[in-house]
Amino acid sequence: LSELAEGALEQDAVLKNGESVNIYLNAGLSPRYEQQINVGVDGVGLYRTELPFMLHNGFPSEDEQKQLYREVLQLFSTKPVVLRTLDIGADKQLPYMPINEENPSLGWRGIRIMLDQPEIFLIQLRAMFRADQPLGNLRILLPMITSIDEVDDAIKLINRAKDEVSQLLKQPIRMPEIGVMLEVPSLLFLLPELKKRIDFISIGTNDFTQYLLAVDRNNTHVATLYDNLHPSVIRFLARVNEECRRLDLPISVCGEMAGQPVSAMVLIALGYRSLSMSGRSVPRMKYLIRQLDPNLTADLVPELLAAETSNGVRRVVGEFMEKNG
Ligand code: PEP
Ligand code: MG
Repeated sequence: LSELAEGALEQDAVLKNGESVNIYLNAGLSPRYEQQINVGVDGVGLYRTELPFMLHNGFPSEDEQKQLYREVLQLFSTKPVVLRTLDIGADKQLPYMPINEENPSLGWRGIRIMLDQPEIFLIQLRAMFRADQPLGNLRILLPMITSIDEVDDAIKLINRAKDEVSQLLKQPIRMPEIGVMLEVPSLLFLLPELKKRIDFISIGTNDFTQYLLAVDRNNTHVATLYDNLHPSVIRFLARVNEECRRLDLPISVCGEMAGQPVSAMVLIALGYRSLSMSGRSVPRMKYLIRQLDPNLTADLVPELLAAETSNGVRRVVGEFMEKNG
């Protein structure tokens, strides 16, 4: 961490009007590094459980998984830790479970695999519940959700795993907060139904941008078309935030947008107050947040929403930054 960064890491993430922004860590691979960041974040907003799975030679056992999850829950024991259930398929392949498909981003991935292979899902969920005893800071996040049926089916399995662990440990176990990743645009129209079932939404802007714009996030031929600042992405994010506020459904952003200065500024202008990002982005984002006055960024919104092109969005942000230092 640079000198500026070290000071910035420990500062509060407070906007110029005193409003705070919650900063969470996207974690997964290096607990030692993540421990350094602990002091600077409000918790773990996204732990990608598939990352350790990708480094194993086969599916880690329930006990091995329990150890992995316990480590991160313990490291952040006074703060919430969001463990995302396995998000394999598409760009995240396990060498011991190859999936070959013509159209993998639209294929068998994430929650779809878990609901088709409930034994894999149940092992992971039991490991999460066991790791959480007696810490109690676990939250569970479901990736690649497109419909309410998937949420209901996943919650049934979560309840089953909870009951099994409760029987095993001969004690009642609390239900953790459950969240859904908004990665597929279909969920915009299902937020009221989600509100009845879950506790929070986390927007995965990496996949969300891919699915809204029909642009493969990893294909270099179309890399210039993959743009987080496309006007439709901006307008969509504005709508999602408004709708979640109306429903009183907590919302945060955990895609790369949340850790990059220009797009994070846009998110703050649109009203987002909870961002999850990689460790290296945390200090600079806290620094940026402390320079921002939400009364001024709010004035940007009509211009942002009126921008006709990605360059138009960039121009609005660029002019704002120039004017306000
Ligand atoms: C996302 O899609 O924005 C996200 C955070 O998940 P991942 O990058 O792991 O697909
Ligand atoms: Mg994703």
